[in-house]
Amino acid sequence: MSNVRYLTTRELTNAEGKVTGMIKVMVLKDSNDAKVKYVCPECGKGKDTIEKWKKPFSVKCGFCGHDMKLVKLLAQFKKEKKAALGKG
Ligand SMILES: [Zn+2]
Repeated sequence: MSNVRYLTTRELTNAEGKVTGMIKVMVLKDSNDAKVKYVCPECGKGKDTIEKWKKPFSVKCGFCGHDMKLVKLLAQFKKEKKAALGKG
C-alpha cells in the first residue's frame, strides 16, 4: 500500500440526512487520477469510475447527476457533533 497517496472511504447522506450511500477514493502516487467507487445516496445506484484528482473533490452521479462532495473529515465531524447535540 506504499504507493497510495490518498485513500478514504466516506459515508454519504441523502437530503434527509440519512446515510444511504458511500464513496471510496484512492489516489496513487505519481498520479492525478482518482479511482472512485461510489453508491449514490440519492438514487442508490453505484459504479466504479476514474476522475481527475482535485481538491476539493466531488463526483457527479452518473445516473441522477447528484453532486457528491468529499467533505473534509473535520467539517463532517463538527456537523455530526452539532447534529448529535441538537438531538440531545
Ligand atoms: Zn444518483
